[in-house]
Amino acid sequence: LMTDRHGSLIASALRVFPLTRHLYCLHHLKGNIAQHIQGSLQASWADFTQDFWKAYRAVSPDEFDRLWNELVVRYPTASSYLQEEIYPCRDRWAWAWVGTVFTAGSRTSGRVEVENRVTGVLGGTKKSFSQVFDALNARTLEQSCNDMISVRQSSRRQHPNANLENLFKTVLEQVRKYAGPYALQTVYQQMERSVYYKTEVVLPPQGVKDWGNFNNFDNDSAYVSTAWLIWLIRNRNMSVQHLLKVTHGSTGAVHYIAVIDAYQHVCDCCMGLSLGIPCRHFFQALSASRGKSLLFHMGLIR
Ligand SMILES: [Zn+2]
Repeated sequence: LMTDRHGSLIASALRVFPLTRHLYCLHHLKGNIAQHIQGSLQASWADFTQDFWKAYRAVSPDEFDRLWNELVVRYPTASSYLQEEIYPCRDRWAWAWVGTVFTAGSRTSGRVEVENRVTGVLGGTKKSFSQVFDALNARTLEQSCNDMISVRQSSRRQHPNANLENLFKTVLEQVRKYAGPYALQTVYQQMERSVYYKTEVVLPPQGVKDWGNFNNFDNDSAYVSTAWLIWLIRNRNMSVQHLLKVTHGSTGAVHYIAVIDAYQHVCDCCMGLSLGIPCRHFFQALSASRGKSLLFHMGLIR
């Protein structure tokens, strides 16, 4: 559930969806912050927003706290609003927490706002709720059909890469058969990018038997830190069988994939968790593992 942090929505979400994870729209959050502190910060507002987004992108809760403390010290006039209103709900908007939650890639409530306008156009004032519901369903169905037809028609023209067709033959067969157009296009793009990386199995340091006891990673360029990733996995009573290091051949960018078993993995880029479509690092590791430590299945596409 993603809302604009309005008090009435928070209260009703607690009552109606008590077990649903409630996140806050970033666009509205930014608007609220601007409304309350932009005036007092004046010329330093631009610097503040830069520092704020840096804290937002923190790779772990510890890193978030460190950057947040710097933020409130650097901007004392904003400090009480930030500490009282924005910090307490950090697990509902900051990347270290939200990045590992499936949101179909959304970080704002923008899609719903657009749908609201469409509902207004389709509904008008004289239609019943059930008529609006039917009209919306018909529109969605028509859109998916059109999208699917255009993807199938252009599939050959857009996907001329024979290497890729070979490398991911069975995966592409499944995805073309069962996935929707957006997932198909995204999977193909990620496969294309995956060939620029290489995969290595990371060996635990001497004397360390379990990845959970090892948190000495220093990969701040990743989206969530590997230590935080492993903590999240262990917190769900699962353990990490292998840790794979996926490195880009020319930029040297490094990502880690924690393999829980052949069917479950988590990449620190969070694309699979947040968007629900496997990332290029997974496809690289998949092609490197040749069906051993990782397997593709349609459940990876949500
Ligand atoms: Zn990844």
